[in-house]
Amino acid sequence: MTIKMKQSTKMDNIPFSGIRKVFEAAGELEKQGKDIINLGIGRPNFDTPAHIKEAAKKALDDGMVFYTSNYGTEELRQAVAEKLKRDNGLDYQMSDVIVAVGANQAVSIAMTALLDPGDEVLVPNPSWLHYFYCADLVGARTVSYPLLEENEFNVVPEDIERLITPKTKMIIVNSPNNPTGSLLSRESLQAIADIAVKHDLIVLSDEIYEKLIYDDGVHYSIASLDGMKDRTILIHGVSKSYSMTGWRIGFAISSNKEFISAMIRVLQYTVTCANSFAQYGAEAAMRGPQDCVEDMRVEFDRRRKLVYARINQIEGLSCIAPKGAFYCFVNVKRLGLSDEEASAYYLNQAGVAMIPGSAFGEYGAGYLRVAFSNSYENIEKAMDRIAEATRALFNKK
Ligand code: PMP
Repeated sequence: MTIKMKQSTKMDNIPFSGIRKVFEAAGELEKQGKDIINLGIGRPNFDTPAHIKEAAKKALDDGMVFYTSNYGTEELRQAVAEKLKRDNGLDYQMSDVIVAVGANQAVSIAMTALLDPGDEVLVPNPSWLHYFYCADLVGARTVSYPLLEENEFNVVPEDIERLITPKTKMIIVNSPNNPTGSLLSRESLQAIADIAVKHDLIVLSDEIYEKLIYDDGVHYSIASLDGMKDRTILIHGVSKSYSMTGWRIGFAISSNKEFISAMIRVLQYTVTCANSFAQYGAEAAMRGPQDCVEDMRVEFDRRRKLVYARINQIEGLSCIAPKGAFYCFVNVKRLGLSDEEASAYYLNQAGVAMIPGSAFGEYGAGYLRVAFSNSYENIEKAMDRIAEATRALFNKK
């Protein structure tokens, strides 16, 4: 019997992640015995610090095996409120914090709870793809504002203002940014805040990379600016700063009671609550010694300098120095290949996996995202291979 029923039409325009496609191709090559260096994956390669693991193990041993409050444990929510005061100078209460299943779910509950079909959301492009597809899943329309290399991948406020219509309801801000590594200045954030106030917009500010900042860069939270707190949802998490991507703990934070009430109902009816013992680990991360965060940042910085220096020595490639996160957005426009072709070329010829920039939106076309979330030694080896494969490409022409 043939089944005529089809998937929901809202899935028609939601592709399988372009990032995953590269991993699958890399996996195939590995199966054939090829040595692949993965500079694609967006996660730290460090083990989670021991004191965090111990706290989760203890929680399990202590019988913390049941549902927690839908909001998350009070201890963790309190620890997040204290972190916001300590690190960001922001005054939030425990009741302003929802513990979600990763920052990913925090974004998803915010969009589901606050957007109606047809509402427009302003999204940086290129950016982490979830903003686009979480919005699509609720029937909202995403409108891209460009992050261009000539502006160091920074926001140009006039570009945003030009895109606003009566349907615009939300604007996404992500600093430090995935995939470009850009960091928004206080002035840029102020300009976005002014637009948000003028047009009465909700701001979703994803600050998950806030601890990974280099040189003299400073992270500012848009929520700290005048008139912003009640219209902002902060997205934070432990995945990137504490190397806890598999733990799946993130936070949606807002002083707006209506937003919290709407978001918690989405979370309730999707996942009930985040994993209980992982929340105890996350609490140890927030409250425990922070030198592990700095140690990882210093190592990322060493790798960042390596990638920046080596890429710019290769004829045909260039990049600007990322100011935050752990990505370098490499310009490949002089190769005479599209970014997808370049990604496939380096994977097959050099055994190096890098993500085509267009996987992060059309303004990412012509770039490859290089994640320096692999060991220094492997990155060195990858840079040698990329240099050689690039030379070979030009010699062929
Ligand atoms: N926000 C951004 C900008 C990211 O790059 C990522 C992960 N790639 C996330 C959120 C997701 O974080 P989590 O693991 O907490 O879901």
